[in-house]
Amino acid sequence: MIKFLDLKEINGRYQKEINDAVKRVAESGWYLLGEEVREFEKEFAEYIDVKNCIGVGNGLDALKIILRGYIEMGVMEEGDEIIAPANTYIASLLAITDNRLKAVLVEPDINTYNIDSSLIEVKITEKTKGIMIVHLYGRNAFTDKIREICRKYNLKLIEDCAQAHGACYKDKRDGSLGDASGFSFYPGKNLGSLGDAGAICTDDNELADICRTLGNYGSKKKYENIFRGYNSRLDEIQAAVLRVKLKYLDEDNESRREISKYYRENIFNPGIILPGCFDDKSHVWHLFVVRCEERNKLQRHLSDNGIQTIIHYPIPPHKQNAYKEWNILSFPITELIHNTILSIPSYLLNQGSTDKIVSLLNKFELNEM
Ligand SMILES: *Cc1c(COP(=O)(O)O)cnc(C)c1O
Repeated sequence: MIKFLDLKEINGRYQKEINDAVKRVAESGWYLLGEEVREFEKEFAEYIDVKNCIGVGNGLDALKIILRGYIEMGVMEEGDEIIAPANTYIASLLAITDNRLKAVLVEPDINTYNIDSSLIEVKITEKTKGIMIVHLYGRNAFTDKIREICRKYNLKLIEDCAQAHGACYKDKRDGSLGDASGFSFYPGKNLGSLGDAGAICTDDNELADICRTLGNYGSKKKYENIFRGYNSRLDEIQAAVLRVKLKYLDEDNESRREISKYYRENIFNPGIILPGCFDDKSHVWHLFVVRCEERNKLQRHLSDNGIQTIIHYPIPPHKQNAYKEWNILSFPITELIHNTILSIPSYLLNQGSTDKIVSLLNKFELNEM
């Protein structure tokens, strides 16, 4: 059986270093807001190339706190609109609606699965205050066009970087391209901790200061509360583990690139649409997502032959019960994507496994072919 993702194996490569890091914190007697978090924030800010990094509890909180920060700054207010891709993971949208902001959904580009820049401008109203781009599946979503629109309409650009640690636009890393960015270090992400963890990155010192305060009960000085804040902090243990894994992130992303390149060069089944071939640095291949008209049959074919696959994601946000008011909306490209996509294992595989997957995909036959 080839597992979709084997976290034990992923972390096992650094087991001694991870154990040492955990032990160091466990024995230190200091578990929150300490040296490990400070050092990780410094190292990650340097890696992304931003002035500020703030550790938080998870990726959803990172995005939620950024938007709340803008509300506290008076940049946004209840009822304002944030444009976001319709096919994103629901967390991006929860961050918006949780702040009583309105998420305005835009279709993705069928070739990149990222927000279609050419469809954004018609959605802008007087209430639009920001655009949230999502570097979905690890592929950079930033474009010059998006930057232009943000400048023209004075919009904040927020990046959801939960799947794109290390991806680039030209020479700049995702996470440093907009006004603020949110990262998740959920165990299965490209940079994953041993539990929940996240971070905010921004060059905006005022926003950074407010976000840091919001994540710590709205308090800068103990027992003095400036805001009605949250408890969303990065643990010392997670920070210590992330410091170990950050050192290997580039190398790791490179190995993902190699596997996806191998797939793209060796899978040649007309019934299976492969992700396009991009500028190398723009993609960190968090997921290798193919599209097939008979997706469920393809998934069965692979599982019958010992290959585990996952659908990211089976139900688009506007069809979820959580967003009943959107259920009547129609986003044909988003729906097509959700009905046809399949993520195949693409990380930490040996040659035998990649060959087996390639051969099974090449042998797969559509019913009507
Ligand atoms: C994982 C993910 C999040 C949320 O991160 P958590 O750490 O699970 O809260 C947000 N957006 C996207 C696109 C994600 O994949």
